[in-house]
Parts: sequence; C-alpha cells; structure tokens
Amino acid sequence: MDVTATDGEFHFKPSVAGIPAGMQLEWFDGPQVCVPGDRTLYWPYWDGFEVSDFKCRPYRPASYRERYAGDPGGLYPGFCQMQFLAAYKNGEGVYFSAVDDRHTPKGVEWERVDDGSVRLSLQTFCGDLDEDGAWRPKFCYSLRPYAGEWMEACEIYRNWVRALPGFERPPVRPRWMYDSPVNLIYPVRGVGLDNLPRDMKPNCYFPYTNAVSTVEKYGRLLDSRIMALLMHWEGTAPWAPPYVWPPYGGEKELAKFRDALHARGYLLGVYCSGSAWTQISSIIPSYSQEQRFEDEHLGHHMMRGPRGEMTAYVCNGHDSQRLGYDMCLAEGWAVRTLCDEAGKMARFGIDYCQFFDQNLGGGWLLCYAKHHAHPPIPGAWATEAMVALQKRLCASSALHGMVIGCEGAAATPYIPYLFYNDSRPIVSLHFGQPVPGVSFVFHEWQCNFSGNMCGVEECDPFWRWMYCFHNGDMLSLVLGADDGLAKAWCRPWSEGFSEQEKLVSLVRRMNSLRKKYPSFLLEGRMVRPFAKCESRLVEIPCRVWGKNRTIEAREVITSFWENAKGERIGFASNWRREPSELRITRSGGRVETYILAPLEVVELSAE
Ligand SMILES: [Zn+2]
Repeated sequence: MDVTATDGEFHFKPSVAGIPAGMQLEWFDGPQVCVPGDRTLYWPYWDGFEVSDFKCRPYRPASYRERYAGDPGGLYPGFCQMQFLAAYKNGEGVYFSAVDDRHTPKGVEWERVDDGSVRLSLQTFCGDLDEDGAWRPKFCYSLRPYAGEWMEACEIYRNWVRALPGFERPPVRPRWMYDSPVNLIYPVRGVGLDNLPRDMKPNCYFPYTNAVSTVEKYGRLLDSRIMALLMHWEGTAPWAPPYVWPPYGGEKELAKFRDALHARGYLLGVYCSGSAWTQISSIIPSYSQEQRFEDEHLGHHMMRGPRGEMTAYVCNGHDSQRLGYDMCLAEGWAVRTLCDEAGKMARFGIDYCQFFDQNLGGGWLLCYAKHHAHPPIPGAWATEAMVALQKRLCASSALHGMVIGCEGAAATPYIPYLFYNDSRPIVSLHFGQPVPGVSFVFHEWQCNFSGNMCGVEECDPFWRWMYCFHNGDMLSLVLGADDGLAKAWCRPWSEGFSEQEKLVSLVRRMNSLRKKYPSFLLEGRMVRPFAKCESRLVEIPCRVWGKNRTIEAREVITSFWENAKGERIGFASNWRREPSELRITRSGGRVETYILAPLEVVELSAE
C-alpha cells in the first residue's frame, strides 16, 4: 500500500497483485484505523446518526446475506449513503473516507475491539481487476484530523460531492413539489400491519374513490395539496415484485380515483417493492410465480452467493412478505422487466412511484454469480449497473411526469436520479441518536419526505414529525381506520391515536413554513448554526423493531438553512406538550431567551 502525507492528510493507495490461480480476492479492509472507545462516531447508516455505545451491536462485515434481521449492516451505496466515518470528542475529530468516484461497494462499518477501542472499517469489494488479474483501485483512502463534530465531517464530504458528475446543478423538480403536498399514506386492503394476521380484505378506502372525501378532508384541514400514497394496491399481491400491474380491482377503478384526485389538484403515488423476485406471496399464498420461473428459466438471472446459493434478503420469509429471490441488475432480462413494469405505471398517470422501496438508499446487494456477464466478485461494476438502470427508468418515467423514489435517503451515486424518497432517519433510534447528516450533505439535490416510519413502534409523535421537518423533509400522515390517523404504519389500526388533531395542526403549521420558504426548505442547503441554541436535554422512550431504548433529545429542535442567494434562516420548534425555554447566544455575545409554547414552531433570523 502506498502511503503519502500532504497538508496533514494521509492518503492510502492499496494494490494486490500475484493472486494465485484458482483464488479470488473478495474484499480489502484497510488501512486499519482504530480510535479510543470514548469517542462519538458519526455513521452514515439509515440516513445518518451518532453512536457512542459501541456495545450496542456486533460488527457486521458486508456479505451475501440470507435473512433480514433488522440490522442489515452498512453496505454502501445503499443502506449507507456516504463512504466515510468520523470519530470525535470535545470538538476534535478524525475523518476517514474512500475518495472513490466510482462508488465501489463497501461495508461502511465499525468494530469494537478487545482493548475497548473502535476500528473504523471501509471494507471494499474487489471485483474490478486489471487485465493481469491484479486489484489496483484508482482511488485512495483518506485519513485526516479536523475540528468539529458530525456537521464539520459532513461538510468535508459535501465539498467532495460537489465536484462529482451529476451534482453540478439541482434536479429538475416537477412543479407540484414547490407546493409541498402532504402525503396521505394508507393501504387499500387490510387494517394496517401486513404481517400477521393476514386479512387482506378491501378496507374502507376501497374502491379507491372511497378515499376522495378523506383526501379532501385532509386537504382542507392542512390547507395543502395532498398526495394519496397507496400501499397494498398491487393487483398481484401486496409487496410481490416485480409484477404489480394491473392495480387491485382493475385499471378502470384506479383511473376513476386518479382523475378525481387530479381534478382537485391532488396527486397519486404508489409504493412498490424494488428489484426482488416473488416466488410465492407470504401474504396471499395463492399468488405464485413458480411455474413461470421454471418455464422461463428465470433462476439464471437471480443473484447468487459465493457458493452459487440463491436466496433473498429484504422482506423474505414465511412470516414476512414473500418467498423469493433477488434479481441481478446486471442482467438484461431484469432491467427489461423492471422498466416494463415502471412504464405501465408512468403511462397510466401515476405522479410518484416509490419503485425502489426495499432497495434501501436506492442500492442493491452483492451478486457473485459466475455464470453472469459481470465479474464473479462485486465491484464498481455493480454501482454502474444500478446507475444505468436508474438513468433509463427515471428518464422514461419523467417523460410521463412520474417521479421515482426509494426507501431511505438515496445514496451518493443515485441522488441525481432519485431526488424524492421516503426518508428513514427515525429507524436509527434502534442503535443510536439520529442527526441529520445525510440531509446536511445532500438537501440541495435531494429533498425527501417523512415516510411511513416503518419499524417505529413507539416514540413521541410530535418529536418525530418535528425531527423530519428539521431534516428538511416534506411531510406525511399515515391513515388509520375511518378517516383517522395511525401513529405509524406498523401500528395496528385498532390502537387509535388520541393526539391526532394536534398532529394535524402541527403538520399544517410546519407545511405553511415549507410553502413560505421553498428556497430554503425545498432547494436550500442545511448549514451550521449561525447562533448557539441551548435548551434542556430530556429523555424519550422509544421502541424500534421490538427493541426498547431511551434517547436524549433537546426540548427545542433547531435547524439552519442557506438558499442559493446566500440568505440564511433558522427554525426552532418545541415538540413538548408544555412550554420550553430556548436560549440563543448570537455571535456578538448577545443572549436572547424565548419561551416556546407547546408545539410552537418559529423562524430565527440570521441577525
Ligand atoms: Zn449477477
């Protein structure tokens, strides 16, 4: 490995030659950087968060995996949106990154070692070999000290991103995004949870037009355009990719709803399930593609593990959504199949399709198939295959006005194609403390929406929704029974939600600010605070994926923004049901103290 040092920054450039015949280099994990265990780590996983308890989980190197266990590990580009880690204490940190503009798949992970220190890992897959069989990546790893914490580390990464192709200018957004529509997320079959019990009878929002009065009601209450964002709408089975069309009940039924929405200025969106393959639906077991799979020899095109094994990862299992496999996106058949299916939705007049739901961060997984046209080890070729698919799929969808999105914020190489996604920062409560690092880096190119909050079983709703507002997200509500709201998608409708009227008022207020300040909250850049803001720390109990935790949060959440003209603004909000004090120290030392009323959101001027 070549090591060079310039201006206080170390560059590491590895190479591996002379690999013996019959052996393969799967991945490279170096340099091995360790930091003391009393540091805080910024980890760009699940939209970004801080970890300080390194006993919270075991090390999970990236590999071909068989069963989703709630913690899939930090595969980049995908579950991890950025290829760096930062560790800091008392305003001093180290920043460790891969300066890799081909976005080679990596495990962006950390490992607690025996002496209590923490190893930072950028485990890089080595499928891109030179003609002589050696691995000589064009990129280097960088290690440097810096002053600050997570924001300053994200700033270093943002400065690098700014020079990447595709980031020269903001995306061409459809006109409706400037109106900041609120998403109304709901299933048309079943009563909330799609796991057990599996009652998939049509609910009160089917036929689709039954929901017109509900959409109108929330449009009125929120003073906003609405996007009806449907789940369990597929005519095949819920969450049973790749075949979803025609919609449940037929095209004519959905067309009536589409036309009723559009006539009122509202929008129609759908969730899909990405690039998995369904053999049998676990939700509706009568739905099977096994015969087609046999007849068309489709096993040829599925992703394989290192031993040729074939399984699937996300949402796969008898007690999950389906039994199936994952499609290899370097296979022409898979690309054609996905583009065909997306084309049907785009031509129909759907406005937003979360086509890459379950492809977290817009990424895909690791394929080792020796019989595919790609190298037998994952490498940058895999990122290039996904970029090529997204380019084609998003360009043809855009011709019909349909925007494509994914689950979680999109990872770095996919942002030019996926600029409106179901953000998932709250899921990180499972391990750590969410901080808006991914929004800090990418917001000017990618403005997401607070999604269905899948996985969050308990956590103060007002804190959650305000966190998403300060994350720069457009806003959503999840419908429950009979026009009411649910606390989150994974809560049963029978539970009810006693504070839903207050939540509607809060979303109306926050969205009025989004509509007032699109140059900041849609197109703007998140920046460091222009004034020091202090409020009390309090504890919030939460439950994510069955795990109970308590997190610490400020009584008043703040965020700071800059628009293209260089103007700045801040926002502060009190998520509690009682007044909270906010103390602001301006750069000249002037101190201002405010008492924010319960659920109050205010603007902060830069002066
Ligand atoms: Zn493959």
